Amino acid sequence: MTEVTKDSDENSAADRSNAGGSLNFIEQIVEDDLASGKNNGRIHTRFPPEPNGYLHIGHAKSICLNFGLADKYGGQTNLRFDDTNPVTEDTEYVDSIKNDVHWLGFDWENEFYASDYFDQIYLFAESLIKKGLAYIDDSTAEEISAQKGTPTEPGRMSQYRDRSVDESLDLFRRMKAGEYPDGAKVLRAKVDMASPNMQLRDPIIYRIKHAHHHRTGDTWCIYPMYDFAHGQSDAIEHITHSLCTLEFEVHRPLYEWFIDKLDIFPSRQIEFARLNLTYTVMSKRKLKQLVEEGHVNGWNDPRMPTIAGLRRRGYTPASIREFADRIGIAKRDNLIDVGLLEFCLREELNRTTHRVMAVLDEKPLKLVITNYEAGREEIMRIENNPEDHEAGERNVPFSREVYIERDDFLENPPKKFFRLFPGGMVRLKGAYIIKCDEVVKDNAGEIIELRCSYIPESRSGSDTSGINVKGTIHWVSVPHAVEAEVRLYDRLFSVENPAADERDFKELLNPNSLSTVRAFVEPSLIESARTGALTNVQFMRKGYFILDQDSTTERPVFNRTVTLKDAWAKELKKG
Ligand code: ATP
Ligand code: MG
Repeated sequence: MTEVTKDSDENSAADRSNAGGSLNFIEQIVEDDLASGKNNGRIHTRFPPEPNGYLHIGHAKSICLNFGLADKYGGQTNLRFDDTNPVTEDTEYVDSIKNDVHWLGFDWENEFYASDYFDQIYLFAESLIKKGLAYIDDSTAEEISAQKGTPTEPGRMSQYRDRSVDESLDLFRRMKAGEYPDGAKVLRAKVDMASPNMQLRDPIIYRIKHAHHHRTGDTWCIYPMYDFAHGQSDAIEHITHSLCTLEFEVHRPLYEWFIDKLDIFPSRQIEFARLNLTYTVMSKRKLKQLVEEGHVNGWNDPRMPTIAGLRRRGYTPASIREFADRIGIAKRDNLIDVGLLEFCLREELNRTTHRVMAVLDEKPLKLVITNYEAGREEIMRIENNPEDHEAGERNVPFSREVYIERDDFLENPPKKFFRLFPGGMVRLKGAYIIKCDEVVKDNAGEIIELRCSYIPESRSGSDTSGINVKGTIHWVSVPHAVEAEVRLYDRLFSVENPAADERDFKELLNPNSLSTVRAFVEPSLIESARTGALTNVQFMRKGYFILDQDSTTERPVFNRTVTLKDAWAKELKKG
């Protein structure tokens, strides 16, 4: 197992983990607030996605944190769409986000939209202007940015900063009425052009954007900026603890300045480290690029770190929640090994999945059992899950001809090769012990079939043969086999931390992240696929798999969810 978290040392174990009943730093703040009677003992969090893409595993961490905290302390959580940027947002994303949050196992108290607060936020802006705390600036974006200064040099004041309240109010109303084109004017908060915190140097709080909004249509042509919508929405909803990622730490003084100047509900902003995962990228902008440029097959491509991709890959909600729990909450940015996510999944699938047989091979090897009567058929009863006897048994047909994996046979085996070789014996899982008598080759010297004999007394469950064999291999009866397509996935990127690489992230894509093989699977799989009963399964000795939505009744398609063991960990050890 590679449970490596590439943390910086600054994250003490206590910051990260709930283990042993110790509190993480956010729980500590919440408990202190509860103890002091703040907010009358009320806990109200929110998950505030911008509907400009699909949710990813980083969002899952935030979802588990916000909903988990409210659950733990008897509070509530709102789902709030932070939809203040009309250009990038879409109802497709709204629907996928709701679906994903539900799928993860959470239910929100209220479904809100920041755009529902546009009237209220507009009034907040007017009140700031009236207090002399905001002004309309006619400067261009370039001028504003040139005057902004640097972290070590103060900014310069705009020539419009001392505009009268009446003039700014009049211009703001005319902006709203649509009298100006995009970019002609902005509304800025009058904070402090000399502040060492760049966020406080008269931030823009409203801009003109003649764009259609997915909810408000063409009602508005001015839109509030993030900093003048997020905290205001928190206040309107009386959110007690507003949890966000670290990059907003420098915004907190502004968040608090608005609370103070607008005299609104004092939500408390608390920052935590965003989740970064090895061998993938986590920014919606980059994920969107992968989708739009066809590097992957959509937002739900099973290689994507999106919730939709993970679901299609075969991840379960419980494994993702378990992962979020194990990584805990940190105060410094860190990079988590994707091996930990896979570990959480394997733990669960090992407990819950049925073991079935599938031969994953373009050219499987045919085994003919010469002393087994032609046309005879037996139904073997095979246990579904040795880890869970209550999972029962199923019927698996056996006949004179079976497929096995080509690499379960070697003509010239090395020592300790416990699978099949000429003159050797193995057990066919859940059936009989067989012996390889003869290797049949075509003219080119390629092995086309193995002629074998079986030991009639060795039937699994009633074995009186007294023969002990070291190897057991899986098989599928040829006349009963169902042909399937199997998609094997590997890491989407070939470097550990693509976001930190100088090269363009698309150059770092792993060219072998998807390979497709033909497989022959036992017929029980198709029965359960038809009835919809099929969920995650283990293909014995091969890994965990799930039926894909691309399946047809003629040809099922399976996704490999995860291998049985961490193949990469072995590679790394070999060095
Ligand atoms: P991205 O940078 O991927 O576009 P975002 O922060 O812009 O992400 P939002 O839709 O604004 O995406 O995020 C909704 C919530 O999820 C925010 O509270 C945000 O802080 C949180 N979040 C986003 N990415 C991560 C992450 N990698 N780890 C933890 N929380 C995250
Ligand atoms: Mg965002």
